Amino acid sequence: STNNDCPPDVEQLGRSTWTLLHSLTAAYPTTASNEQQTEMRSFLGLFSKLYPCWVCADDFRAWMAHPSGKNEPRLSSRAEFGQWMCEAHNAVNRKLGKKEFDCNFWEERWRTGWKDGRCD
Ligand code: FAD
Repeated sequence: STNNDCPPDVEQLGRSTWTLLHSLTAAYPTTASNEQQTEMRSFLGLFSKLYPCWVCADDFRAWMAHPSGKNEPRLSSRAEFGQWMCEAHNAVNRKLGKKEFDCNFWEERWRTGWKDGRCD
């Protein structure tokens, strides 16, 4: 499962995909225009249809579409979107019995690097 010369399994695909998804939030504008929000909403809609792990995709779509509206993408700013993506990832972590990640630290993990300099 760590051999990068072989087709990815669900875990490898997942790790790579979370890297992309959190990196998208890290690169998102501090304040997003209506057009930027529309583009990202459209990306997330298509991503959640096309992600090539079908149970993953179905569950992710169902999570986003929770009837209460509580899991709808929050796209007005980098801070909102980064927090939302962290919550989305934690929903999958819970489903898989993995530890939840403290979302106060999403930006250190994915944008700035840790304050102790370990990413320098
Ligand atoms: P990953 O969960 O891949 O996380 C990678 C790194 O991200 C972690 O090491 C940590 O540093 C950081 N991280 C962890 N949690 C968070 C967070 N909440 N916010 C920010 N950073 C965080 N696998 C299945 O078996 N079944 C599924 O239904 C399934 N659904 C998925 C749905 C989506 C949309 C995606 C992208 C992946 C899905 N996966 C699923 C894959 C699964 O989430 C993991 O990627 C895979 O199990 C490998 O896990 P991992 O322990 O290496 O860390």
